[in-house]
Parts: sequence; C-alpha cells; structure tokens
Amino acid sequence: MAEFTMELNDEQKEVRDWLHGFAADVIRPAAAEWDEREETPWPVIQEAAKVGIYSLDFYAQQYFDSTGLGIPMVMEELFWGDAGIALSIVGTGLAAVGVLANGTEEQIGTWIPQMYGDANDVKVAAFCSSEPDAGSDVASMRTRAVYDEAKDEWVINGTKTWATNGGIANVHVVVAVVDPELGSKGHASFIVPPNTPGLSQGQKFKKHGIRASHTAEVVLDNVRVPGSCLLGGKEKLDERLARARERARKGGERVKNAAMATFEASRPAVGAMAVGTARAAYEVALDYAKTREQFGRPIIDNQGVAFQLADMRTQIDAARLLVWRASWMAINGKPFTAAEGSMSKLFASETAKKVTAQAIQILGGNGYTREYPVERMHRDAAIYTIFEGTSEIQRLVIARTLSGMPIR
Ligand SMILES: Cc1cc2nc3c(=O)[nH]c(=O)nc-3n(C[C@H](O)[C@H](O)[C@H](O)COP(=O)(O)OP(=O)(O)OC[C@H]3O[C@@H](n4cnc5c(N)ncnc54)[C@H](O)[C@@H]3O)c2cc1C
Repeated sequence: MAEFTMELNDEQKEVRDWLHGFAADVIRPAAAEWDEREETPWPVIQEAAKVGIYSLDFYAQQYFDSTGLGIPMVMEELFWGDAGIALSIVGTGLAAVGVLANGTEEQIGTWIPQMYGDANDVKVAAFCSSEPDAGSDVASMRTRAVYDEAKDEWVINGTKTWATNGGIANVHVVVAVVDPELGSKGHASFIVPPNTPGLSQGQKFKKHGIRASHTAEVVLDNVRVPGSCLLGGKEKLDERLARARERARKGGERVKNAAMATFEASRPAVGAMAVGTARAAYEVALDYAKTREQFGRPIIDNQGVAFQLADMRTQIDAARLLVWRASWMAINGKPFTAAEGSMSKLFASETAKKVTAQAIQILGGNGYTREYPVERMHRDAAIYTIFEGTSEIQRLVIARTLSGMPIR
C-alpha cells in the first residue's frame, strides 16, 4: 500500500506537464469553436489518440498507480483545458470501466479495443444506464433484457437517456433489468456491438454546458445480442441472482436499493474534473484582476476582489485534497466508511460552480461575454453537481454513513 502523499513524484510531474501542454496547446484553443458547434470534436480526439492520451493503456497505467493520484491528475489537466472536449476524450472510459469491472478476460480483449479504435480511425463508446424515469433512482429502471435460450441470445427493449456518446458510439454498454423482482440487484450489463439492428439514437440534447460532448437518448427496439455479450457471463449472473433472491426471501420484501453507493470509487474522478474547471476559471480571474485597472490601480488591489480570489484558491485546494484522499483510498482498498468518495465529488462540484461564478464577477462585463472563457466554464461547471449522482444524492449517501445506515 502506498503512503498517502500530497506531492506528485517526478514521473507524475512529467506526465502532468505533458498533459498540461496538450490541454493548453490543443484543447483550450479549440474550446470556444466546439462549444458553439455543439458537436463531438473528432479531430481533437484524433490528436489525443495520436499522442497516446486517448487509449485504454494510458488510463490503465494511471489507474493502477498505487498513489491514487494518476487519474485525478489526468482529469484535472484535461478538464482545465476544456470540460466539453475533455469529456469527449474521457467519456469512452465510462463504458470501458463498465467492461473492466464486470467483463471476462475475453470480453475485455474483444470489446475495449473496438471502443477506442485507433489514431487513424478513432471510435467512441457509451455507457447507458439512466432512463427517463430512472435517474437518481436507478432501481426504477425499465429497460428489459430477456434470454432466448433456443438461440442463446438476449433481447433488449427500452429507452435510455442522457447517454454520453449515445448513438454515435461504436460500442454501447447497456444496463438492463433481467429480474424485475430484485430492484437494482436484478440488473445486468450488456455489450451492444457495432451496427446491431434495433439500436438507434433518439433525441440529441441541446445543453447548457459541456456542449462539445454529445449527449443523447438511445432507443433499444428488439435488440438481439449473442449470449457472449452478457458481461461476466450467464453462469456468474445466475449465481448472483440466486444469492439476491435468497437475501430478498430472508428480508421478506423486494430488494430496493437506489444504488447510491456503487460509485464511491469513481466519484473522485468527477471531483477532479470539477477541480480542473475551477482552477481554469480561477487562473483567468487572477490574471484579469492583476491587469485590469480601475480608479488608477489593478482591481486586485481592492480587498473585495483579492479576498474573493483568496477564497477561490482555498476552496480549490481543499477540493483537490478531498479528491486525492478518496482516490488514494480507492486504489488501496480502504473502506469508504464516511463516504469519502461522495464527499470529494460534492465539495469539488459545488466549488466549481461557485468559483466559476466568482470568476465572471471579477471579469465584470467581459466575464459575461463569450469573448472570455469564464462564461463557458461556468456553464460547464453546472454538470458536476448533476451527473454521476447529484449533490443531493451525495449528501444522502454521506448522511447515511453518519446516521449508521448501510450505504451498500
Ligand atoms: C450531460 C449529461 C451526461 C450524462 N451522461 C450519462 C451517461 O453517460 N450515462 C448515464 O447512464 N447517465 C448519464 N447522465 C445521467 C445523470 O447521471 C443523471 O442526470 C443523474 O443521475 C440525475 O438523474 P435525473 O437527471 O433523472 O434527475 P432526478 O433523479 O430526477 O433528480 C431531480 C432532482 O431531484 C433530486 N433528488 C432526487 N432524488 C432525491 C432524493 N432521494 N433526495 C433528495 N433529492 C433528490 C436530485 O438531486 C435533483 O436535484 C448524464 C446526464 C447529463 C446531464
């Protein structure tokens, strides 16, 4: 187990500087254009693939860094560049993690390379869990997967919503109900291979922020996938369902679980994205406050402005520390007894919203225009308090640990 550290080692600093260079030279200059276009920035993803930032190998290397700081460092730097473009680069990772967490060796080897494609022909993947009536309340999911034993195929029907890369992905990972009596314990994940008949894109959402990231509904109409597309395989699923049924029988009631705690280990990564956006806005505001003069002196010479910057910086550093702590706990298998993963995401995402709003204030009229990036950063920051569990759900999970209720 690595000791908890607040300092990056030399190797990490080298990677961070390299990522920062890519974020500053490639991502940031493209940010305003793709925000306006509201389209997936394929050329930027391709650039990322060419230099090795868009690949499973790179993320796996960072993920298995025993200090836990690899992934937060990557997220902070890329999202410092631009949140929408960065999500287009890391969004495939959501689906890849779904396969890594539940798939067999063979499934991992078959499907993950198809999620990324290669630098000459980049692909993206989508993770489809949320539904119109099942957002925070995952247990209300309706998309149904039924096994057709004669053909060894699963038949999937339902509508997914809010899927990052939904409909444009080469590979979709779809969560569906296999036993409606078991609530979220009766869910299973499936690979939907490229060009599978019956899968189509529904409406593409026009969003407030992260507009360079594609978000859409995914409609599944009698989608048939081979038995081999059930992540983890049928035997493992049957065993898991049998255990869940037994527990439900003993408990005497339908298993109801809002699946609020499943994401403790992945939430710090979203916290790190928020830190990246907050830091970006803070840096623009600091620079502006030092150079903009009113009443014959830089506006930072007013305590009212300088104190705002002091608060912004303090909150960003505090957010990063919570993120790093939770990431270190995750990789070192520490139990999240106080929902430290949720704490990090809650604090960092609320910080990003607050700091980006303060940045607009410090830039005055300029901050309110699209000539300066803080307006976009503020729109982008709002997503962090919504996806991967809203701030209210984070509070709910944290509160449960305080009151002694089980969070799993
Ligand atoms: C841009 C974007 C990208 C996304 N990407 C993906 C993706 O790739 N894959 C995917 O599966 N999903 C994705 N999501 C979905 C996201 O995870 C959900 O939006 C989120 O979980 C909230 O669900 P909801 O929108 O249905 O809100 P609801 O659950 O309807 O919540 C509405 C409000 O009620 C509050 N609330 C709900 N329950 C409680 C409670 N028990 N106590 C207190 N307050 C409560 C919420 O906090 C919120 O303020 C994405 C969403 C967005 C906007």
